Amino acid sequence: MDDSSVDDNLVDDNPVDPEQDTPVDDPSLTFAQLRTRAERTAAGLYEQGVRPAHTAAWQLPTRIETVVLSLALARLGVRQTPLIPGHREREIALALRATEADWYIHPGQWNGTDYAALSDRVREQHGPTPRTLTAYDTLPDADPGSPTALPEPPTDGTAVRWIYWTSGTTSQPCGVRHTDRSLIAGGSCLAHALRLRSDDVGSIAFPYAHIGGPDYLVMLLLYGFPAVLFEKFAMPGALAGYRRHGVTTAGGSTAFYSMFLAEQRKRPGHKLLPALRLLAGGGAPKPPELYHEVVAELGCQLTHGYGMTEAPMITMGSPDDTPEQLATTEGRPPAGMEIRITGPDGALLPPGSEGEVRLRGEAVCQGYLDPVRTAEAFDADGFLITGDVGRVLESGHLVLTGRTKDIIIRKGENISAKEIEQLLYEHPAVADAAVIGLPDPERGERVCAVVEQPTGAPPVTLGELTAYLRGVGLATYKLPEQLEVMAQLPRNGTLRKVLKYQLRERFS
Ligand code: ATP
Ligand code: MG
Repeated sequence: MDDSSVDDNLVDDNPVDPEQDTPVDDPSLTFAQLRTRAERTAAGLYEQGVRPAHTAAWQLPTRIETVVLSLALARLGVRQTPLIPGHREREIALALRATEADWYIHPGQWNGTDYAALSDRVREQHGPTPRTLTAYDTLPDADPGSPTALPEPPTDGTAVRWIYWTSGTTSQPCGVRHTDRSLIAGGSCLAHALRLRSDDVGSIAFPYAHIGGPDYLVMLLLYGFPAVLFEKFAMPGALAGYRRHGVTTAGGSTAFYSMFLAEQRKRPGHKLLPALRLLAGGGAPKPPELYHEVVAELGCQLTHGYGMTEAPMITMGSPDDTPEQLATTEGRPPAGMEIRITGPDGALLPPGSEGEVRLRGEAVCQGYLDPVRTAEAFDADGFLITGDVGRVLESGHLVLTGRTKDIIIRKGENISAKEIEQLLYEHPAVADAAVIGLPDPERGERVCAVVEQPTGAPPVTLGELTAYLRGVGLATYKLPEQLEVMAQLPRNGTLRKVLKYQLRERFS
């Protein structure tokens, strides 16, 4: 099995009984201890030979020690590239090569994977790897009695010190250059948008190596509230952790909200998590009905926003928004984030028009590792060209309608993959669907539907689906001309997004 597509933090084999809130001595750190530990780990890393001019790749699970290690690297001024634990040979080799990493820091054995052996395979298949360090055992804190003389902490917030990797939905994952300043700007905007309070208790259930990690850390440092980290996130076991610590706000994305709902539905008439007041997340499309279901059934608020590796906080729903706005929009940009909607030629479109989203602001990245890609990514006014399609309502709320790569151009007509996907979801023989455009000598592109079927459903045919789509009023030129059935659509490890470029490669 290719476990690079398995979500590291979402596992389903956790046997813990959520109703049995047995006290557990969870490791924890105060902010003061976090600082001391980070200083000491920085000294430990320095003693091992890690230097400010170095680049360190780390592939570690969501643990307190990972936060400490990342802060220690930041303290030294090392350029770091976090990799999610599910990445395998190809992705690791790509990241190590592209960042010219000096170090690869891994967890040894974790979640059934031997990362030392994995790094050996990377070396065999892809050439030399950098020096490796096993967290957390071989990174002993330096002896507090004889502190190593560390170099001064970095003061230049505008230097590129973080390389985060995109999901690889539309093409190969790509290294995005961030600075301390851009990450701090993203995190502080998020905290303001969500109006978190110092008495909140947060939680991190997604891989800390995701760009959401530092976003979250900045929120904690700004507001001084605690967060519970889930090393292996599983329902129903995780519920015990939420209850034990009285978590008030949980971050994730669409798949995550659905997991809470599914658990709640198993326990009608019993509030699953009494302390939970806010589910907040983003990064992937959310069906409007999910908002209403969460509010009605879980009894908490849901705010969902728009973000990307290049700019983790672009828009966010606010507690001031109406239920309709929270259900159907991605919220508004925070102060300091400018959004433009442009036509195919890059010209600004009139208010309310649908077009490509472009952004400018402190939380936007410095481009990519690949300078050619960076040059193409920004327009003459310094706005990042996102490849997302949407419109801004009079109220300032953004509605995302798709991605430019999801627009299929068949005989000169633009077709939205999302429109067809949403209709296919409604068909009883379809559990999940992805619609892609494939190169076609006559039409430019042809429409191909790739579907997953529910277990036990009889095989569905192209004729059946096109008859259904015709029946619900889809124009003939939009009807799929090719159908592929897969046991599982390929998805990325973090937000479970369908990797459409893999589908295009496979079915072209
Ligand atoms: P790649 O750039 O490698 O093709 P990716 O763009 O999916 O992958 P990410 O940076 O993880 O990688 O995801 C950002 C994208 O996710 C956005 O550009 C947008 O298309 C989508 N997205 C983010 N938030 C939302 C949202 N609230 N609703 C719909 N789509 C969203
Ligand atoms: Mg992208």
